[in-house]
Amino acid sequence: MDNAPFDVIVVGGGNAAMCAALSAREHGASVLMLERAAEEQRGGNSAFTGGGFRMVHNGLETVLKVVPDLSEGEIANTDFGAYTAAEYLDDLGRVTQYYCDPDLAESLVNNSTDTVQWLHGRGVRFVPRFGRYAFKHEGRFKFFGGTVVEAVGGGRGLVESEYKAAVKQGVVIRYRTQARSLVCGRGGVEGVRVVTDGEEMVLRARSVVLACGGFEANREWRTRYLGAGWDMAKVRGTRYNTGDGIRMALEAGAQSHGQWSGCHSVSWERHAPDFGDIDSRTAFSRNGYPFSIMINAEGNRFVDEGADFRNYTYAKYGRVVLQQPGSFAWHVFDAHVAHLLHDEYKSRGATKVQADTIEELVARMEDVNAPQFLQTVREYNAAIRQDVAFNPNIKDGRGTQGLAINKSNWANPLNKPPFVAYSVTCGITFTFGGLKINPATQVLDINDRPLPGLFAAGELVGGLFYYNYPGSSGLMAGAVFGRIAGREAAGHARPASS
Ligand SMILES: Cc1cc2nc3c(=O)[nH]c(=O)nc-3n(C[C@H](O)[C@H](O)[C@H](O)COP(=O)(O)OP(=O)(O)OC[C@H]3O[C@@H](n4cnc5c(N)ncnc54)[C@H](O)[C@@H]3O)c2cc1C
Repeated sequence: MDNAPFDVIVVGGGNAAMCAALSAREHGASVLMLERAAEEQRGGNSAFTGGGFRMVHNGLETVLKVVPDLSEGEIANTDFGAYTAAEYLDDLGRVTQYYCDPDLAESLVNNSTDTVQWLHGRGVRFVPRFGRYAFKHEGRFKFFGGTVVEAVGGGRGLVESEYKAAVKQGVVIRYRTQARSLVCGRGGVEGVRVVTDGEEMVLRARSVVLACGGFEANREWRTRYLGAGWDMAKVRGTRYNTGDGIRMALEAGAQSHGQWSGCHSVSWERHAPDFGDIDSRTAFSRNGYPFSIMINAEGNRFVDEGADFRNYTYAKYGRVVLQQPGSFAWHVFDAHVAHLLHDEYKSRGATKVQADTIEELVARMEDVNAPQFLQTVREYNAAIRQDVAFNPNIKDGRGTQGLAINKSNWANPLNKPPFVAYSVTCGITFTFGGLKINPATQVLDINDRPLPGLFAAGELVGGLFYYNYPGSSGLMAGAVFGRIAGREAAGHARPASS
């Protein structure tokens, strides 16, 4: 491959690809990045995120390294807590039912703090994540868990900073360029066949990093791998992640890995568009369900709404909604808790009904079995442990007793008007199945041997997440493995300089 104009081609234009491109440049490689989207739509799902990163931290000391301009007031009034490597590994294990690949998990966890600092050093600015990951107690913010910082400007801000850094570092970017297949030769992977503005061409390089997302935006693959009904899910983010990178690598002999039938999916506005809209990316979330009862078309509850903090349940409850008759549900609240709902519930176009009595409310929820709904509410109200105080900031243990499906925390009787209900369906975020890599991000074949010259990072890597996911691990995983992939791809392309 002596005639390759670039050392490394990075396929994709989101956070994982950006980290790979920046890292490859820093390790001396010339880099071409291929983004399927037009420039105005660049950045993949990463641009749709809130920009939160889950990292190991020891509180203020770690936070100050990436938020050096914290004010004295913020320092005095915030308890950042701490999040150890052991806790991070434990969360990954617990929520993935201990399927998560231990090598990848350790690499993610052990490189998390340093990688956020590395991003900061490349111009990404961070702020404390006060919004959803901290609560105010006796005048002080108290964080829980590992998500203490987010990029300024959310996902969009993150991606824009990364593109700025990449251009400054001399990464060449081609937009509207879809990678279609890998070019393989005697030395391994030697380039990529692409279509750019309708024209097919071969682009050669010594190493290729695949970082072009999962298959969440591919209706046919969703149905094929996630199962019946998944064609009807709404895509929360980009329309371009159709599994191309996974398919290309499988065709070149890569091993499939991870939970192909699993994905991250959430409660989402029932009548949201089929694909994400970057300008209203927060308007369709419906994350207040821990304070609700969730009701299906039959008028029944079907899940423990208060099983855990939202952060540990939201990514698996989309599937539960999809499995309900008609693939929809309603989040029902009353005036005890309505003030706890975030702005997303107030967005224009929300499918919402409101009434002063519970009977009037269900009459407006036209597609719900009304007599059964009223029975469900009566039984639920009667089953609440009134001896335990309601506290939205902790897992308060104020649950129900004796129901077929109990609610474990934050149970309040539905009896204070006005009553309000929001209709939701399933919004898919990203898929869990993909390629097998080793901790050096080399893509492995069926014998667990690396395919020479091929590296992968981000959503299209399988083996890290199963069934569920600890919030804010997606960007972190993309950054950690993208950074490693860039370094390794550069090392493969230029062995002497690695
Ligand atoms: C609404 C929403 C909110 C989220 N919030 C968070 C959060 O706060 N924190 C968190 O950690 N995670 C969050 N996630 C998950 C997170 O977005 C992903 O885990 C992560 O961004 C994936 O990064 P990636 O680089 O692998 O993929 P992406 O960012 O999706 O990038 C994939 C790129 O590949 C390009 N591409 C696809 N096919 C091709 C092809 N054939 N050729 C060339 N280019 C191609 C796409 O255009 C895109 O640029 C959220 C996701 C969504 C949708």
